[in-house]
Amino acid sequence: MSFIVAIDGPAGSGKGTVTKLVAEKLGFITIDTGAMYRCVTVEALNKNIRPTENEKIEEMMNKISIEMENQDGKQKVFLNGKDVTKEIRMPNIDKNVSAFSALPIVRNKITPLQRKMGQNKNVIMEGRDIGTVVFPNANVKIYLDATDEEIAKRRYKQNKEKGIEVTYKQVLEDIKKRNSYDSHREIAPLKQAEDAIYIDSTNLTINEVVEKIIEIINKKRSKY
Ligand code: C5P
Repeated sequence: MSFIVAIDGPAGSGKGTVTKLVAEKLGFITIDTGAMYRCVTVEALNKNIRPTENEKIEEMMNKISIEMENQDGKQKVFLNGKDVTKEIRMPNIDKNVSAFSALPIVRNKITPLQRKMGQNKNVIMEGRDIGTVVFPNANVKIYLDATDEEIAKRRYKQNKEKGIEVTYKQVLEDIKKRNSYDSHREIAPLKQAEDAIYIDSTNLTINEVVEKIIEIINKKRSKY
């Protein structure tokens, strides 16, 4: 039997970290769906393909291979066999990913892949459209939110730790732009599913969010 948890929300709401911790505690597998759109973006930029070049993107999508593996508790991402785990997190990919993820040719290929990855497993899948499009029948749906300012503060700190030089103002601008683009696109926009539970993480610690989500999952599982 499978139990599916969908966690959606804007960039920087803490989905990635929280998903990892909840999954570790409950023994679920995790699928970071954003990593797949990031791979598409890396491949397009490597090939100098623009989001408007439909035919080239279609050809690229027919050939692309994206794989995710768990190695020593860490998720590794492979694009056409090459480890791109670090590359997909670079600011240049943050900036360009929304334009590619909004394309029907991209989503039509990636969404079925995600459904297949989550089949017959106990899984926590995080992204933007998991509760609305990928798994509308998920057992638990969470919408994790935070203010743009808090998100930018967190991202700025992460960048600093990684040695990436970007000002707070620039981070805030980029985050606002990406979240607005993701929320306003035509296909599978970022939005809360009607039956999702809303959690605002702005004033919560990571552990508080993790506890809340585990409580929600356990309650549902006891009835399952
Ligand atoms: O979650 P992450 O920030 O890595 O996602 C990168 C981008 O991938 C998002 O800004 C969004 O454009 C896209 N995405 C999406 N649908 C998902 C997950 C991510 O469109 N389910």
